[in-house]
Amino acid sequence: MDKTMCSDGKARETVDSWFVAGMIKATSDLWLKGWNERNGGNVTLQLYEEDVAPYLPRWDGQRQLPLGKALPALAGQYYLVTGSGKYFRNIAIDPETNIGIFRVNKAGDAIDVLWGLSDGAFPTSELSAHLESHEMLQRRPGNQNRVIMHCHATNLIALSYVLKFTTDDLTRALWEGSTECLVVFPEGVGALEWMVPGTNEIGGATAALIAKHPLVLWQYHGVFGRGASLDEAFGLIDTAEKSAQIIQKIIAMGGVRQTITRQNLIALANRFKVTPLASALDLER
Ligand code: 13P
Ligand code: ZN
Repeated sequence: MDKTMCSDGKARETVDSWFVAGMIKATSDLWLKGWNERNGGNVTLQLYEEDVAPYLPRWDGQRQLPLGKALPALAGQYYLVTGSGKYFRNIAIDPETNIGIFRVNKAGDAIDVLWGLSDGAFPTSELSAHLESHEMLQRRPGNQNRVIMHCHATNLIALSYVLKFTTDDLTRALWEGSTECLVVFPEGVGALEWMVPGTNEIGGATAALIAKHPLVLWQYHGVFGRGASLDEAFGLIDTAEKSAQIIQKIIAMGGVRQTITRQNLIALANRFKVTPLASALDLER
């Protein structure tokens, strides 16, 4: 028997699914971390056919919403998404109002809301950044990424006011902020200079960077992370944010006197068999 099917063979309640439970856990944790004040942040999780099959009989898909930019490569795909203007702290108490599930239509130019967003709400205003990122990542052979996560991680945002705002400078600083960082994000952190949020333009720019780097820092705004699971995307952001916090403490204590050296970083890469972003490793310090 399919493990997501009830013993009577009927479809299960969507709120009991692993993916709604996972979204509640991730967004509640993000709220508790203090990275999602008010309606800050948004998350998408791609659902596969085997995830949705037991629930499809319950979903009606009454509402179609146009996409700002057609993405035909995503036609037929399912996503769980946080609602625009919705507070992460409320998702656990009322998932059906605050998150939703949609399928991209055949032409890839609209989405059909199948479940949730029940008060007529819309998916996140950053849907373009999410879907364009998924589309870019899916072009890579063997892509495992199915999560895009955006939050207003406090210390990372603060760094964008202080550090030289380039991919190489941010990456190198964050690698030096804590020994685990190079191992967790060897491909570094993409720096995206300030743009107006919620537009197709910032969506395209984010997707181009997230294809190269697992994290993208939106200057003075927040961070985007990707992952094969909600846990992986969360852990990635958490690791970078911790490093950003340490960097701030270092600056507050009078600045760096000694640090993780280039040779140390190379030794880490060799031990953990990762290939670090070469331009960040070669940066003159
Ligand atoms: P949404 O509520 O539309 O998801 O927007 C929150 C946000 O963080 C915008 O960048
Ligand atoms: Zn935001």
